[in-house]
Amino acid sequence: MRPFSYARPSDTEEAVLELARPDSRFIAGGTNLIDLMKEDVERPSRLVDINRLPLNTIEELPEGGLRLGALATNADTAYHPLVTERYPLLSKTILAGASAQLRNMATNGGNLFQRTRCYYFYDAATPCNKRQCTANGAAGCGAIGGYNRIHAILGESQHCIATHPSDMCVALAALEAVIQISGPSGDRSIPIADLHRLPGDEPWRDHTLERGELVTAIDLPPNGFAGHHKYLKVRDRASYAFALVSVAVGLELDGDIVRHARLAMGGVAHKPWRKTEAEDLLIGKSAVRENFVPVADALLEGAVGHGSNTFKIELAHRAIVRALEDAVLMND
Ligand SMILES: Cc1cc2nc3c(=O)[nH]c(=O)nc-3n(C[C@H](O)[C@H](O)[C@H](O)COP(=O)(O)OP(=O)(O)OC[C@H]3O[C@@H](n4cnc5c(N)ncnc54)[C@H](O)[C@@H]3O)c2cc1C
Ligand code: SF4
Repeated sequence: MRPFSYARPSDTEEAVLELARPDSRFIAGGTNLIDLMKEDVERPSRLVDINRLPLNTIEELPEGGLRLGALATNADTAYHPLVTERYPLLSKTILAGASAQLRNMATNGGNLFQRTRCYYFYDAATPCNKRQCTANGAAGCGAIGGYNRIHAILGESQHCIATHPSDMCVALAALEAVIQISGPSGDRSIPIADLHRLPGDEPWRDHTLERGELVTAIDLPPNGFAGHHKYLKVRDRASYAFALVSVAVGLELDGDIVRHARLAMGGVAHKPWRKTEAEDLLIGKSAVRENFVPVADALLEGAVGHGSNTFKIELAHRAIVRALEDAVLMND
């Protein structure tokens, strides 16, 4: 690990100012950033520890939603009574990720910005356009033409086929969460759909935050789809493994007729994958398997395999159909 300096501000304004220094990074739980520093992938010259900021509360919003502080831990969020009661999809999704020890340290803000688990990204001896930030993909991509079992089948570019690894973000995408941000130019909010980027020509840019911007909270709209939901995570081991493919579903049913549908996928793209056109195919239809297959077709339209990960296309198709069936029946 390289030497770095350290600051521990106690208010948001000071934290934002601290981050204006070149090569500085916020640190929250440290469960991803410290690993990346040890691997020499992240090389900050200054760490701005945000753990003293008053951002760890979970509170109700006036119009019926919930505000999750950026520094509330994943564990405190998943087990909070308002989350388990109104947003069980989010609670179950968080609990499907990492391990109890990690969830006790990991924060909601840090979970949004954890970096890809692409093996080549972690291995500083291999070429990687995300790690090396060189224009026009000049550095190269070890995963394209290499071993890419965990890589993207949707939304990738010729420069990068990495996936976003977060489970939590898949549920946030289905719930249409809104991210609250403070930065050098003031406060703003952005929908979760606009927070993460596809790799395009700049695969080193994972998200759309500007330099110095700090996430202060994640707002959940009132509809938590508590009645019919499912997070289906397909992975190599039953615990302590990232998703090969995952699906978050929220449904509102009137008898067996679908009134409202939300679907987001993890493990398939550089960001949680959602397509409202696919969801629209369900509205007004019976919640039965034959109506779920076209939804999976639409959500996976344009999916491409890269060799070792080609199996994910069929796997994802089956996972979407099964997650919808489980959401109807509320199978855990
Ligand atoms: C062995 C292992 C297994 C794991 N398995 C899973 C899994 O199955 N599913 C899953 O989803 N995750 C998994 N994780 C990842 C884990 O969930 C993340 O490491 C964690 O959520 C990151 O949160 P943190 O608070 O520790 O972030 P940090 O490591 O402190 O920060 C991560 C990044 O976020 C930035 N950041 C932090 N807070 C803010 C903020 N408020 N505003 C702006 N930027 C901020 C930091 O600058 C840094 O770039 C696993 C991790 C490990 C080590
Ligand atoms: S897939 Fe992306 S992160 Fe992985 S090696 Fe290629 S450029 Fe790097």
